[in-house]
Amino acid sequence: MINKLTIIGIGLIGGSLARALRAAGYVHEIIGYGRSVGNLEQAVELGVIDRAEVSLTDAVRHADMVVLAVPVGCMAEILGELGPALTNRAVVTDVGSVKGSVIAAARGALGARFVHFVPGHPLAGTEQSGVAASQADMFQGRRVILSPEPETDAEATARVREMWEATGAEVVTLSAADHDRILAVSSHLPHMLAYCLMDMVVRHDDHRAILECSAGGFRDTTRIAASDPVMWRDICLANRDALLAALRQYQDDLGALMAAIEKGDGKLLCETFNRAKHARAALNKKYDVQA
Ligand code: NAP
Repeated sequence: MINKLTIIGIGLIGGSLARALRAAGYVHEIIGYGRSVGNLEQAVELGVIDRAEVSLTDAVRHADMVVLAVPVGCMAEILGELGPALTNRAVVTDVGSVKGSVIAAARGALGARFVHFVPGHPLAGTEQSGVAASQADMFQGRRVILSPEPETDAEATARVREMWEATGAEVVTLSAADHDRILAVSSHLPHMLAYCLMDMVVRHDDHRAILECSAGGFRDTTRIAASDPVMWRDICLANRDALLAALRQYQDDLGALMAAIEKGDGKLLCETFNRAKHARAALNKKYDVQA
């Protein structure tokens, strides 16, 4: 049970966490801190938070848990302000989609308090943004990755684990390097493909006709191109090396498909499509699909 929870950034993920913990009866009081007063007022009106604070120092005073739920690109700035503002032994965690850069920022900003920082990432969300889109059941049955460092306090990690379990999530641990390498392929790469495809089509001379003739395939493939551009700019820049490696591999594989089409190599096309079809069909049943 959390007595005072402070969430920095009451958007889709911060708002959903607040709703989920309130629905579970796991938190006594939720304080919101963020950039725009209008958003914080909306969060109070919606009943997502109990009250908003305009000063970070006031927001985290007496908090036993502080959650950073802002875009990855502004974590360093906020952690820099948070370090001196923390006056008690609050546990600090984050929900950022990249772990290495956030951990480096936290290590630099929090000093001795870094041991109470537990890096986290819920594998849940939608292409929408903002508190109005937040949902109490967002994390139900979903995974949350925690990436504690060797010096992270075990008690702090346990408290963050219990918080996420109260939302209905399954908590797993993964090193930050493994997290960033794996998420580059499972999440960051698909967003690049969706953005790139959608942008290619809207810049096409025949874009009206193409969109009029689009059906489920195009819509399914580009759904995540509606995601927030600032959030995804930050993720690309923060996970540059792993994302570039994934993009290069995809580029090579796309090149192989292009060559097969050029040469009329139907065998290679069929082999590729068959491997992918069986792996995709098995995806909903188990995670360890083998092509
Ligand atoms: P969001 O809906 O846009 O919410 C972000 C919140 O952060 C907003 O309340 C925003 O305030 C606030 N904010 C932005 N810049 C700020 C700044 N400089 N100082 C203080 N507050 C600031 O975004 P989200 O989808 O919840 O994403 C939040 C974090 O969750 C990101 O780190 C993202 O990588 C991670 N994440 C997202 C998903 C997903 O599917 N969306 C899934 C897992 C993890 P304003 O309203 O004033 O702009």
